Amino acid sequence: MSFEDYRGVWVFIEEKEGKIAPVSLELLGAGRKLADKRKVELGGVLIGDGVKNLASTVFEYGADTVYIYDQPIFKLYRTESFMKALLHCSEKHKPEIILYGATSTGKDLASAVATDLPTGLTADTTELDVEEDTGLLLASRPAFGGNIMATILCKKYRPQMATVRPKVMKALSPEAGKTGTVVEEYIDLREENMRTKVLEIVRETTKKVRIDEADIVVAGGKGLGSAEGFKLIHQLADTLGGVVGASRDVVEAGWIEHHHQVGQTGVTVTPKIYFAIGISGAIQHIVGMKNAGLIIAINKDPDAAIFQSCHYGIVGDAFEIIPLMVQEFKKELV
Ligand code: FAD
Repeated sequence: MSFEDYRGVWVFIEEKEGKIAPVSLELLGAGRKLADKRKVELGGVLIGDGVKNLASTVFEYGADTVYIYDQPIFKLYRTESFMKALLHCSEKHKPEIILYGATSTGKDLASAVATDLPTGLTADTTELDVEEDTGLLLASRPAFGGNIMATILCKKYRPQMATVRPKVMKALSPEAGKTGTVVEEYIDLREENMRTKVLEIVRETTKKVRIDEADIVVAGGKGLGSAEGFKLIHQLADTLGGVVGASRDVVEAGWIEHHHQVGQTGVTVTPKIYFAIGISGAIQHIVGMKNAGLIIAINKDPDAAIFQSCHYGIVGDAFEIIPLMVQEFKKELV
């Protein structure tokens, strides 16, 4: 394998029901910077059924080329069919880097592709850079329980691959009317040869709260003492029209479901305002909220680590402060 044969940065464009996943647009922003530094093209790989019309969006968010597999067999995501298309495309055009969103689809696809290629895959990357002359991808992510940032390199194989969590990278502002090269691809896959079939899609009936989409997140930690005490967090969130977030210890205590957990093993959030109440500020929590616009911490311990990572810190007892805040905000917001 000669590394010179591999050129270009690619983003797998995740599509569902005719819409591109926001993380794919964020990755086009990150990919653009890598491609510019390397002076190579940025490509998007779009796989689906009836997806050609989405190419214009991929161009507007930064891509130079869009590789499209538009066939009925790709109507719904399946590991086998998508993996075969991506392998086909990668073997034919030889990109040096492929980025995927760390969504359930992206993680599934990237790991399947990595086992076949064979190459390395850095999962849940939070920072990306590239060496200008060698093209070596510098993919960083928290390691050893989040206590250090490890930069992972794939020195011997190409392409280099990474998954990146939603909301970590920034999408570029779309450039209306920007176009590029469309490369229409085809792979001969037959439904009768597919090992998996999607029989039915069952939608969840209870609506999950999406804390990663909220403008205001009021997060509570073990400092609230009990499930009963944690109700104060709900009260403040309701008053402000925000959603409830939590530390992992709170989730493990069973005070709230896992999809409210912020942090390394939870969700990454970037709200306009983030309240961290009764949360000590462990690194695994901080990595999930550090990019919030305004961080307000309440903790009774003046030496709590959270005060190193907030814009405003209030030293005091949450049980005294939250009721006062609710009372005052209610006056302001009527
Ligand atoms: P504590 O550390 O117990 O802190 C409670 C805080 O409340 C203290 O600072 C205390 O001073 C304050 N307090 C107490 N009473 C009051 C009061 N009345 N008023 C105001 N303040 C008060 N954690 C996450 O949150 N998210 C993750 O995704 C995550 N992933 C992890 C992954 C790994 C591999 C590991 C090893 C750990 C992970 N953790 C994660 C756990 C993390 O290390 C911490 O243990 C956890 O965040 C602590 O939760 P906490 O701050 O609620 O509790």
